[in-house]
Amino acid sequence: MASTKAYAAQEKGTALAPWTIDRRNPKPTDVQIQILYCGVCHSDLHFVNNDWGMTIYPVVPGHEIVGRVTAVGDAVKNFKVGDLAGIGCLVDSCRECKNCKNDLEQHCSNGMVFTYGGQERDGSGITHGGYSKSICAHEDFVLHISDKQPLEAVAPLLCAGITTYSPLKTWKVGKGQKVGILGLGGLGHMGVKLAVSMGAEVTMLSHTASKAQDAKKLGAHKFVLTSDEEQVKEVTNYFDFIMDTVSAPHDYNFYLNLLATGGNMVCVGLPPPSEPVVPFNLVFQRRSLAGSLIGGIAETQEMLDYCAEHNIVSDVEVIAMKDINAAYERMLKGDVRYRFVIDMATL
Ligand code: NAP
Ligand code: ZN
Ligand code: ZN
Repeated sequence: MASTKAYAAQEKGTALAPWTIDRRNPKPTDVQIQILYCGVCHSDLHFVNNDWGMTIYPVVPGHEIVGRVTAVGDAVKNFKVGDLAGIGCLVDSCRECKNCKNDLEQHCSNGMVFTYGGQERDGSGITHGGYSKSICAHEDFVLHISDKQPLEAVAPLLCAGITTYSPLKTWKVGKGQKVGILGLGGLGHMGVKLAVSMGAEVTMLSHTASKAQDAKKLGAHKFVLTSDEEQVKEVTNYFDFIMDTVSAPHDYNFYLNLLATGGNMVCVGLPPPSEPVVPFNLVFQRRSLAGSLIGGIAETQEMLDYCAEHNIVSDVEVIAMKDINAAYERMLKGDVRYRFVIDMATL
């Protein structure tokens, strides 16, 4: 075991503060990574606040991890000391169920293991995430990171990137399609960049008027302020696909009516319970409402390679570890442009 510096919330309602965790020594199939940067996802905040009722405290959040390999086990095939490496939202799964065999480890029937707040499969305890100096994981769950892009701006791809890439691929979004991205935050800004890169006509749907300029800079073709009735009228029955990234409770019915006949709305945002969905809003235009959870490991690597090839990274504000609580407060107010990333040299 290696004693490792980290930041944790000790219980519901407490601020994140320095803590020390024990990291396992690398097993034969493990890769040990010195964490250089870790992105700050709204899920970290939901988890720290126990918004989903599943938090086990103390919690060390962080699942947008990039760093450098410092040790590898004897049986590791794909990484060597000195390589850049990343870890996203998963660190383990059964590898045997149908979903795992189909590269859908995030839907493992025997329970995938989240990077933080998950139960280790060998019963050795609760996982701790990237707000720490180092991490050790099975090489099957470690990603290769390009040395051609700024590391701090690549970190958010490990969650915000794959979470938005996967539904765009699954629903075959591309040229000739009208896409709405709802919510311009960490996920939303990656959704805009990726959907634009895939050739779609992209509209940013936001409740913050001051983000209009940014949306255009990110590549969005249109901006709709969702509180403006006239603007909303223009995009009613309009979209082939909407990706909903909103983190706070909101009325899905309102946005379903922006879908054209046969359109799909995919939720990736995970707010606490919202208004019930009224089937009329689906039935009369044969619309679908679906959900999507991050992505499998192979698809995450595909997304990282795609982003390296298309020169896509996240727009980040690098912060010191001690500023994490202030960053959470700003995130709750929607004041992030567009992802906080912690510089682990400051821990
Ligand atoms: P974020 O950076 O805080 O962005 C959320 C955005 O939602 C805000 O920027 C804001 O955009 C919009 N919003 C916030 N409050 C709103 C309100 N009351 N009404 C309407 N819009 C509101 O969060 P994030 O990191 O992108 O995460 C977004 C959500 O996705 C979270 O719930 C997170 O847990 C979830 N998530 C899910 C997955 C998955 O696998 N499905 C993965 C990662 C994260 P505007 O100002 O533009 O309206
Ligand atoms: Zn996340
Ligand atoms: Zn499985």
